[in-house]
Amino acid sequence: MTTQPFLPANVPVPANVAVLIAGGGPVGLTLAALLAHHGVSCLVLEADASWCEGSRAICLSRRSLEILGWVGADRPLCAKGLPWIGGRSYFRGTEVLHFEMPSDPAERFAPMVNIQQYYIEQYAHAAAVRAGGVDVRWSTRVNAVRPHAYGVDVDCQTENGRTHSVHADWLVACDGGRSTVREQLGLQLEGMQYEGRYVIVDIEQDTRRQVERLAWFDPPSNPGSTILMHRQPDNIWRIDYQVADHEDPAEAVKPENVLPRVQAHLDMIGETAPWKPLWISIYNAKCLTLPRYRHGRVLFAGDAAHLVPIFGVRGLNSGLDDAGNLAWKLALVQQGRAGDALLDSYSDERVLAARENIAFGAKSTEFMAPPHHGFALLRQAALRLALVEPAVRSLINPRQTSPVEYLDSTLNQPDPGTAFADGPRAGMPAPEARLRTWQGMGHLTELFGNGFVALYFSNDPQLPNAVQRAVDARSGAAALRVVRISAEGTPDSRSVLDELGQAWQCYGAMQGTLYLIRPDGYVMGRWREAASRSLDIDRVLERALKDLP
Ligand SMILES: Cc1cc2nc3c(=O)[nH]c(=O)nc-3n(C[C@H](O)[C@H](O)[C@H](O)COP(=O)(O)OP(=O)(O)OC[C@H]3O[C@@H](n4cnc5c(N)ncnc54)[C@H](O)[C@@H]3O)c2cc1C
Repeated sequence: MTTQPFLPANVPVPANVAVLIAGGGPVGLTLAALLAHHGVSCLVLEADASWCEGSRAICLSRRSLEILGWVGADRPLCAKGLPWIGGRSYFRGTEVLHFEMPSDPAERFAPMVNIQQYYIEQYAHAAAVRAGGVDVRWSTRVNAVRPHAYGVDVDCQTENGRTHSVHADWLVACDGGRSTVREQLGLQLEGMQYEGRYVIVDIEQDTRRQVERLAWFDPPSNPGSTILMHRQPDNIWRIDYQVADHEDPAEAVKPENVLPRVQAHLDMIGETAPWKPLWISIYNAKCLTLPRYRHGRVLFAGDAAHLVPIFGVRGLNSGLDDAGNLAWKLALVQQGRAGDALLDSYSDERVLAARENIAFGAKSTEFMAPPHHGFALLRQAALRLALVEPAVRSLINPRQTSPVEYLDSTLNQPDPGTAFADGPRAGMPAPEARLRTWQGMGHLTELFGNGFVALYFSNDPQLPNAVQRAVDARSGAAALRVVRISAEGTPDSRSVLDELGQAWQCYGAMQGTLYLIRPDGYVMGRWREAASRSLDIDRVLERALKDLP
């Protein structure tokens, strides 16, 4: 790790804040940076003195990079992280799967980047500081929470043992899997946890091996076990291996039991450089969520809201998506530009996402750590068949995370108008395209994260009256920005040129087509012809911001 974060001077904790974030882990710090970016200042109370240590998240998805990109944290992440697109699985000594995730040259980021969680926290913190208006108090623990109709009173304790009370208009619980806020509100996570355990070891060793996700089932080095391996920056390897049911977890993490297994594995794959262990821990998968993420003026995000298995890498990635979904909504509500029902859509959308992530995570866990003999037999059969039958190999393909669709969101345009043959529907993430801007080649998703955007597909610079009216009617955080995507001509500060034809094609656009995009890059509505009488962009925005049931 690099330098320590800025530690606060001995100044009192403020007594009144607009938004208090409990927990300065990756989700809390990212949310703080995003809120500041939308013009809302906040106080972050973090129990630890610094960024996390030890074996935590390493695989960051393209969507997470996009979200972190809204506050400029993508640049250090991409500079430091190791991009990858695929992986290999072996059964005994033989390769049974070589997969690649969808990776189009139009994309701005690799499908996955490996980087230690402490770097993610560091870069999110730097982004929050850069954005201004974020007060992070390290070594400050939230102890008590008293919600009421107009806000929340929070008691916290600083390093010197002093207790402070803070009144917050809104409290966001980002305080992780053992959330104090959840406990204070008497809320329970629902779901199940698996018995199967994995030892998680991080080691330092020089290597030139390609960056990919590697899995061995029943390898000669550790018969009966499953081993996962990921490269990280700074010559660090993450090695996870399955512990047999009869093994005592306390014994399983003792170095005298761990190191010979790691050595046997490194010998098997021909990694001969000297190595040393950094961290050893034990893990079992959990599939748990709160049924609702909004409780009056208290909101939940990240591990405080849901716990998903590490297989499929959806924990932190979904927590960052929570932050991306919540930040713009909370900013609009806090600034009085939207009714607080907008925050219920945060809960609806992200609980749906958690349930989908849990369903995928459970399937992956049943394969990686079979919960009983039946699953173990099925896995054995799939692996044996995969040796000879390529069609079966998809069964052992790890399902990596992708953005969840909110097709039933209350924010979506209620009557989607003229049918489109192609292109994303309301509630889907807006697809990527490479475009020419007046500053050079860029990406369409770089337009998001900064308020509502209307993508207007037209070669004519004149905006239809209804679009111009919608733009004139809104300001501040609720402002609507129009970006014209033309198929010809020269781009300027308000238009981009689709010189490769990717945007027009993937949005199924014709002259005059308009897409309304939410600040978090999701389609909210679309119109085949913006000049037609049926353009009700104003109504769609009004309904989302004010009139939700
Ligand atoms: C071995 C392992 C590997 C993983 N790999 C991946 C991966 O590759 N990809 C992925 O997406 N996810 C992965 N995850 C999951 C990921 O680490 C978590 O989902 C992520 O840390 C959640 O972030 P968070 O900010 O919600 O919670 P946390 O990271 O737990 O942060 C919560 C913060 O709140 C603070 N806190 C707690 N209580 C209080 C309190 N009372 N007052 C103030 N502060 C408090 C804590 O100190 C902490 O800093 C992995 C997890 C593990 C264990």
